[in-house]
Amino acid sequence: MITDTHTHLYSEQFDEDREAMMQRAFDAGIERFFIPAIDSSYTQRMLDLELQYPKHTFLMMGLHPTSVKADYKEELKKVKEWIDKRHFYAIGEIGIDLYWDKTFLKEQQDVFRTQIQWAKEKKLPIAIHCREAFDEIFEVLELEKGEDLRGIFHCFTGTIEQAHRAISYNMKLGIGGVVTFKNGKIDQFLNQIDLKHIVLETDAPYLAPTPYRGKRNESSYITQVVDKLVDIYGLSYDEIAEITTQNSRDVFGA
Ligand SMILES: [Zn+2]
Repeated sequence: MITDTHTHLYSEQFDEDREAMMQRAFDAGIERFFIPAIDSSYTQRMLDLELQYPKHTFLMMGLHPTSVKADYKEELKKVKEWIDKRHFYAIGEIGIDLYWDKTFLKEQQDVFRTQIQWAKEKKLPIAIHCREAFDEIFEVLELEKGEDLRGIFHCFTGTIEQAHRAISYNMKLGIGGVVTFKNGKIDQFLNQIDLKHIVLETDAPYLAPTPYRGKRNESSYITQVVDKLVDIYGLSYDEIAEITTQNSRDVFGA
């Protein structure tokens, strides 16, 4: 059984063929899908997805860094209302993104830190989105580190030093399509990172693995990532699937 720890199955990009897409994933042995939030404009879609696939989908709640804009206080309030109202499996995706826009860096850091504190209060893991912002993310994690902090560094694309540092904060590394890219770099050192620190993800509909690079990604393509980890770790396909699923249970408690 394979667990996709980060997949936006509620995306508009699946509206035409969601059921067929989900069936392809089930047929490929992917049975658990962890669903990161972005902002309140997607909440209803997430709830609808959960209603349709209650045994397979596990919702997160949080405010994505690229949605930290002028109205971020209202957005943050909605996140808080939801996490006080019902169970979510993680606070995510949260973090800092300096690729698109640096205007709200200060706010992004504040919002990230606030949501980490909520995760700790609720004893939940976090799912971190980091784009061109390792130093800024580590700065916040340094302030919040401790036994009560755990989670996943989603779509990890850093160096081996950054990998070790992320792991030191009780983070697993979310590995997806990038590991299959020719210039993805992480495949060069991943064999030096114990598999117990790795979880699988697609980030569908984004970041499709080779040979689908540039196309719409979907959860069934995670098998390409498993194949790559078979090469890197010299373990069987089933072992990679089983160990990374166990790692996901350790993080999410489900
Ligand atoms: Zn994502």
